[in-house]
Amino acid sequence: MRIADVLRTKGSAVATIDPDAPVSELLRSLAEHNVGAIVVVGPSGVAGIVSERDVVRRLHASGAALLAAPVSSIMTAEVFTCTPSDTVDSLTVVMTERRFRHVPVLSDGQLVGIVSIGDVVKSRIGQLEQSQDQLQAYISQG
Ligand code: AMP
Repeated sequence: MRIADVLRTKGSAVATIDPDAPVSELLRSLAEHNVGAIVVVGPSGVAGIVSERDVVRRLHASGAALLAAPVSSIMTAEVFTCTPSDTVDSLTVVMTERRFRHVPVLSDGQLVGIVSIGDVVKSRIGQLEQSQDQLQAYISQG
C-alpha cells in the first residue's frame, strides 16, 4: 500500500497557516478543521509544521502571551515529508521512531496532502482484514 492509495480515500485537503499568523489564529484553525497539526506555508513553500503538542508545551512556559506570538516562533522548521510513491509501511516506521503523528505529502515540491498516524493505522487494519478474509475463504474452500 502506498501513500497515494491513502490520499485517494482521504483526499488532498491540507490545513495551512502563514508563519506570521498569531498562535490565536492557529488555535482557531486547529479547532475549525478538527485536526492535530497545521502545515506552515510561507512565500517559498512549506516552512514548518505546528501541532497541538507545540502549543501545549509553549503555553506552559509563556502563559497567555503566547496567543499573540507568531506561529513561526513555535513551529518545527525541519519538516519530515514524504511523497505519494512512499509506502505506508515505511512511514509507519518513521512516525514511530521519530515520535510524530503527521507527515505532509509533497509531489514535485507541491503540497498534495497530509497523512496522520490515524490514517496509517486505518490503512494497516484494512490490509490485515483483507488478508484475514482471504485466509478464511481459502480455509473454508479447502
Ligand atoms: P505530533 O505528534 O504531530 O503532534 O508532533 C509532535 C512534535 O513533532 C511537534 O513538535 C511537531 O511540531 C513535530 N512534528 C510533527 N510532524 C512533524 C514532521 N512531519 N516533521 C518534523 N516534525 C514534526
